[in-house]
Amino acid sequence: MDLQLTHQHEADRAEFRDFVDREIVPHADRFDLEERIPRDTIDHVAARGYFGVSIPREYGGRGSDMITYGLLHEEIGRGCSSLRSIITVQGMVAHAIGRWGVPAQHDAWLPPMAAGRRLVAFALSEPEAGSDPQAIACAATRRRGEYVLNGRKKWITGGQIADAFLVIARAEGKPGAWLVDRDAPGLTISPIRGLLGVRASMLSELTFSDCRVPGERLVGRLGFGLSHVAFSSLDHGRYCVAWGAVGIGQAALRASLDYAGTRRQHGVYLKDHQLIRRMLSDGLTNLAAARLLCYQAACRRDAGDPRAVIDTFMAKYFASTMARRAADDCVQIHGASGCSGDYPAQRYLRDAKIMEIIEGTTQLQQLTIAQGPYEDVYEKVH
Ligand SMILES: Cc1cc2nc3c(=O)[nH]c(=O)nc-3n(C[C@H](O)[C@H](O)[C@H](O)COP(=O)(O)OP(=O)(O)OC[C@H]3O[C@@H](n4cnc5c(N)ncnc54)[C@H](O)[C@@H]3O)c2cc1C
Repeated sequence: MDLQLTHQHEADRAEFRDFVDREIVPHADRFDLEERIPRDTIDHVAARGYFGVSIPREYGGRGSDMITYGLLHEEIGRGCSSLRSIITVQGMVAHAIGRWGVPAQHDAWLPPMAAGRRLVAFALSEPEAGSDPQAIACAATRRRGEYVLNGRKKWITGGQIADAFLVIARAEGKPGAWLVDRDAPGLTISPIRGLLGVRASMLSELTFSDCRVPGERLVGRLGFGLSHVAFSSLDHGRYCVAWGAVGIGQAALRASLDYAGTRRQHGVYLKDHQLIRRMLSDGLTNLAAARLLCYQAACRRDAGDPRAVIDTFMAKYFASTMARRAADDCVQIHGASGCSGDYPAQRYLRDAKIMEIIEGTTQLQQLTIAQGPYEDVYEKVH
């Protein structure tokens, strides 16, 4: 595994960083307060091709490697986790279509998704099915050349602005995945507001009442909806969330260092109090470790190494916990100021907490990493 970034990686990261510093960081607190990302910001992201970084060039994307894609998520996540979430779900669905869709679906969906002209959200969770996706109850009934959907989906990131949804449901008891247009008759979209964190990610609940979907909108074979389509999307999303959490950790550490270096109490700067320095040292060490886990996952993904799946679990588990701790310490170091809207520390903490819940909760990562045939678990020690 080569941990040296190439000149191209460095150049891409500098480009992402510049965009985030100029166009995202100054506005992220307002996005959070207003609980929305303005359309012109989405359009700027689209114009820069950031919705298509992982989509192959032949479909209008950048066709970048997984390190570049990770760097994008770290940088956007540093500026605004809500925007990172919107980019992530677009990537999850594009990945599912690219991996499991037929050529006609590639041609129809990937170019507009790469250009950001068509935003597509990922709809798996339901009121009664979260960590246990096998419990999904949303039903698709085959009727002449189409499917009729009935049921509900909840917590759908970007649902307020998505043009379409990749919906996981069951037909004849078999899980499937269908691309459903926003304006499909029988689909009602209700915004979810007042969330703890990623407040600008424009979540929605979806209700399907005899919602008719053409048969050719099925992605992958019937029966593959969970085990293949949803699970590979979630693996992709988990990878993005891991890097996004590194971005939150980076932002929180920088804010902590800035504040501790300028605020004086008891005659010295906060950074010169040993207990504060311990928080900074722990934070910096954990941030570096989380980033290394993300690089490992990236390198193995690029190499097509199957260990990348479990590497991604580890990276997401560690990075999300790191981000929450770093943001918690950031609020602590800021004292009362950290609890106020004058500083972004409280937003980092609220957003970081969400990272421990999405794309598999912390408990699910803890159950999964040491799971499997025991000889395989031993392999992870090397
Ligand atoms: C901001 C946000 C955005 C989201 N975006 C999307 C989206 O775009 N699309 C989508 O489909 N979903 C989305 N979700 C839903 C998300 O995937 C679920 O919240 C997540 O899967 C957890 O499910 P749950 O909330 O129902 O919690 P539950 O599954 O009910 O879990 C509740 C608690 O029990 C624990 N738990 C559950 N099972 C076990 C077990 N076996 N052992 C030990 N502990 C267990 C969990 O770790 C958790 O602490 C989003 C959620 C949030 C908060």
